[in-house]
Amino acid sequence: MSSPSSEKKSPVKKPAFPGAKTDAQWKKLLTPQQFYVMRRKGTEKAFANEYWNNKKDGEYRCAACGHPLFSSDAKFDSGTGWPSYWKPLNDESVVTQDDSSWFVTRTEVICANCSGHLGHVFNDGPQPTGLRYCMNSVALKFKPAEPAKKATTNKAASHD
Ligand SMILES: [Zn+2]
Repeated sequence: MSSPSSEKKSPVKKPAFPGAKTDAQWKKLLTPQQFYVMRRKGTEKAFANEYWNNKKDGEYRCAACGHPLFSSDAKFDSGTGWPSYWKPLNDESVVTQDDSSWFVTRTEVICANCSGHLGHVFNDGPQPTGLRYCMNSVALKFKPAEPAKKATTNKAASHD
């Protein structure tokens, strides 16, 4: 089968993933659906997923490791049935790499912390980036924004 590792030099410098784990470890941590998408690059069903139509304010984090990925500020209705964003939360949120499966070359988007597969990015998104990060809901965990102000004081009666 495979020869023992005799100091292999990888041609591409891969980013280090501090949150990386083995498949055996992920199997214990993830649901079967999460494992299928995040570790086997699967795709969940359009529209039949949790966040495609979520319009609440908040932050979308990696379902596997909790790494912050996207903000609701950059979410838009792409009409695809998957949660879509025109940019990641910041430069350290996600990593992109070529994905040549399915006979087409697409750009895969993975979590910058644990390398979990999240979805793909396309060039037909809205301005200002023109990008469409097409994500799987099952790879995301939504954290609703804190309410801006809590009206704990007694309600103002002067409200005519
Ligand atoms: Zn992650």
